Parts: sequence; structure tokens; C-alpha cells
Amino acid sequence: MLNNNGKVLYCHQVPPHYQEKFILSGYRYRFSLTDCLRSIFDVHNETLNFWTHFVPAWYFFWHLIFLLDTHDFINDRYSWPLFAFMIASCAYPFSSSFAHLLCSMSHRTRHICFFFDYAGLSFYAFGVAIAYRAYAMPAMLLGTTYATLYLYSCFAVCLLCTVVTCLSRLLLEHFKYSKTLKIAAFCVMYFWVSAPVMYRLSLYAAEDPYANSHWVFRKQFVLAFVTCFLYATHIPERFMPGKFDFIGHSHMLFHMSSVMATNEQINALLIDMKQRKDDVLDAGDVLPFTWSIGALCLLTVMNLVIVFTFIVYLYRSDHGHDD
Ligand SMILES: [Zn+2]
Repeated sequence: MLNNNGKVLYCHQVPPHYQEKFILSGYRYRFSLTDCLRSIFDVHNETLNFWTHFVPAWYFFWHLIFLLDTHDFINDRYSWPLFAFMIASCAYPFSSSFAHLLCSMSHRTRHICFFFDYAGLSFYAFGVAIAYRAYAMPAMLLGTTYATLYLYSCFAVCLLCTVVTCLSRLLLEHFKYSKTLKIAAFCVMYFWVSAPVMYRLSLYAAEDPYANSHWVFRKQFVLAFVTCFLYATHIPERFMPGKFDFIGHSHMLFHMSSVMATNEQINALLIDMKQRKDDVLDAGDVLPFTWSIGALCLLTVMNLVIVFTFIVYLYRSDHGHDD
């Protein structure tokens, strides 16, 4: 049985910090851990937010297992960035799905769940940066100071994004532009990481000797734009509040477009990786362990330090007190 006599609640029955714009019903409120886990198969306004990231996480994991047949992730240094990227692609939908599943336990738990969700996105973005540096950097930029500093700068920007987005949650009830701040932080991280590929597809497109992946990358950028648009605008529920509480709301669609974008990114990077392999090996430009799997592990540790710092702050302050 669920709490609240097994019923989900209307928005006016839950505190403001549980309410989502234009979603009027289907709220779980103060569920225990067991109730949250049981609610996976119940109908509420987070059901599809869970499934639209949980199933793709397993799909990406299956893709990683499939890649084991054709790639030697232990001995082949050239494939390590792909391994780091695939792990990152599996991790962010997993952390997001569990954030949506467990976020109705308490105000404090809600904050903690989404801290991990944001750290997961930062982890994913850095995984993308590693793969872009290894397989997708425009040929004319290789060997430049930009290529040398690219991963250093992405590392810093991804960590900064975790800090700013977690902070934006704490400002939620005190600063009316907190969501704008969060979106801005994600956009800066996305554009910073994607800059070399955007340059490759625009100003460098005609000269690029590795053009096979261009159309796949373009699909990925269109889907990424759709993802951001849905998240920022709350379309379609803003036009018919209450009609999309359980299915078809912007967050569900945002989840679907984000994983479709990731899928296109995997396809594009596999094309680039295959096409460039001989040239990269000849040039001796293979990323070392420290800048592939090693850097991703270090970013994970630093992201966890940031998240646990915010959690400690939650417990020592009035933020996230029980409802
Ligand atoms: Zn989500």
C-alpha cells in the first residue's frame, strides 16, 4: 500500500516545493523508500519520468556489452575514451531515473536526489568531452593549444556546473531566476563541450576529411535543442494544465529527446572512431589513461565531494527541513 491511503494527491495538497508548473495532479508525498520502490508500477506524475530514463540506461548498457565483441577495452588504448563515454552515457539516465523515483520521500531527500541527477549530467558531459577530444576534434585543431587545454577546461566547466546547479536548487524558494540559472549552467557546459564539433560542422565542414559522421551529429544537435526547448518552456502542459499530468508532459518528452540525442552521439562517435583510427595511431595522438578513464574517475570523486558538501549543508541549515 502507498502512503496517503494509497492515493496520489492534487498540487494544492502538497507543499510548493513539490509542485511542478502546470502539473495539477498525480503527486506522491512523503512516501517511504519501500513505497517509492513499489510505486514504479503505479500511475503518478513521475512514473514515466522514471521509465523514460531507466529503460534507455539499460539499452546503453546493452550497447556497451555489445561493443565488447568488437573492442578490446582492456588492452587497446584507442578504445578507452569510448569506454569512458559509454559508462557516462549509462550513468546519467540511471541517476536521473532513481532521482525521479525517490524524490517524493521528503523535502531534503528531494534535494539530494536531484543533486545526484545534476552530478550525473556533469559526469556525462565530461564523458562526451573525452570522446570528442579523442575521436571528433577537427583535424586542423589537433596539436594546437586549444586541443591541449580542451579537456582541462571541460573538467573545470563540468565541476562548476555541478556547483551552480546544486546551488540553484537551494535558491529555488528564494530567487525567482533559479531555474534560469540552472538552465544557463547546463547550456554553458553543453556549448563548451560541443564547441569543437559545432565548429567542425559549420566553419570547417567543407574541409573536414572525416565528414561521414556530420549528418548524425546534426541530428544529435537538433535533438539536443529540442531537449532544452522542452525543459525551458513546459510545452505542452502550459497550454492545457492538468491534461498531461501522467503522460505526454514536457519532462517526459525532454527525457526521450535527451536519450535519442545520446544515441545519435554514440552512432556519430563510432563512425568517427573507425574512420580516424589509422591517422590517430600514426600521429601518436591517442589519449593516455589519465585523460580518459582516469580523468573520469577523478571527476566522479570531485563531483561526489561537491554533492556531499551540499548534503552536509542541507543537514546543518534550515534548507530542506522536513515538511
Ligand atoms: Zn528528469
